[in-house]
Amino acid sequence: MKQWSLYAGSFAGIKVFIHWSFWIIIAWIFMLHFQMGHGWAEGVNGAVFVLALFGCVVLHEFGHALTAKSYGVPTRNITLYPIGGIASLEKMPDKPGQELAVALAGPAVNVVIAGGLYLWLKSSGGLMPLSEMDHMGGGNFWFNLMAANVILAGFNLIPAFPMDGGRVLRALLAYRMDKLKATNIAARIGQLLAIVFVFLGFFTNFWLVFIGFFIYLGAGGEVAYERQKASLKGLLVRDVMLTKLPVLSADAAISEAVKDAIASQERLFFVGIDGQIQGVTSFNELLEAHKNSASERSIGEIIIPHVEGVSEHTDLNTAVRKLMGNPKKYIAVTHGGQVTGAISQKHIEDVISIQDQINKKAS
Ligand SMILES: [Zn+2]
Repeated sequence: MKQWSLYAGSFAGIKVFIHWSFWIIIAWIFMLHFQMGHGWAEGVNGAVFVLALFGCVVLHEFGHALTAKSYGVPTRNITLYPIGGIASLEKMPDKPGQELAVALAGPAVNVVIAGGLYLWLKSSGGLMPLSEMDHMGGGNFWFNLMAANVILAGFNLIPAFPMDGGRVLRALLAYRMDKLKATNIAARIGQLLAIVFVFLGFFTNFWLVFIGFFIYLGAGGEVAYERQKASLKGLLVRDVMLTKLPVLSADAAISEAVKDAIASQERLFFVGIDGQIQGVTSFNELLEAHKNSASERSIGEIIIPHVEGVSEHTDLNTAVRKLMGNPKKYIAVTHGGQVTGAISQKHIEDVISIQDQINKKAS
């Protein structure tokens, strides 16, 4: 997804990206205003308003991201989509109080912006009686921006998990029950509201249909994520890591290794020198090196310098988070500086489904 997004800048070490589809909206708004017969000025005004509005959305996302940062949770990036912004936090804080603060910080930013604009408009005499407010043209730019911030705060606080209001709801529920149960309830409510959004969207604003779909899918995804976390809870990397992988010789040429790899039917391999395991590699990685005409170089040259690993004693949920963000889809496991095993995404999926069955039997 990232390659389709434009890098817009960064603040506090958090990069902001603008998804390509966002520009369609800007163009659409421009056309809409332009076509209403007001010409270029109105078109530009409409487009500038949307940009200002999304500026407020970015600040909203920084509200989440910086609050999370204060609890030691980093944010991968912030990306702007036509339906709003998304701050990709590395994870949600586990303590309900912290999740509550992170969820509320976004809408709070919009309340502050709206309040500031209100005070400014009031002191500068720019605030007109509500009876004259039916005209939403370009002349009311700042008033409209204030109103939009009120709507942003209000809309995000609707308890449609995983929207902010839904996260608030889950955090409140999590004070009274375990997180998985709280997530299940919040997600049910979220999906119910999502269906209402889709239904209403058909009759009012079509964006609601999109937003409804995203909420529905998002709620399902969050349940799956919490279920996964619950099933891996209490396990360490060494409890599940793969230790019996075929060993490829570090001296072997990539082309030879690909042949061996095909014959073994495995997808993950140790790389060894003189009986010592030095690294881990995957079938895909070997194939990639082969395609990039490195086939006469040795595995040792290509793989071993790039080994990154987690310790055997790492909590499995922490390791899985690292694994999911890793494009190689596997991580080497180390102990005392030695490679002792590996975990892969495919393998962890199996572990999760096995753990699920064990837990089902137990309960
Ligand atoms: Zn938010």
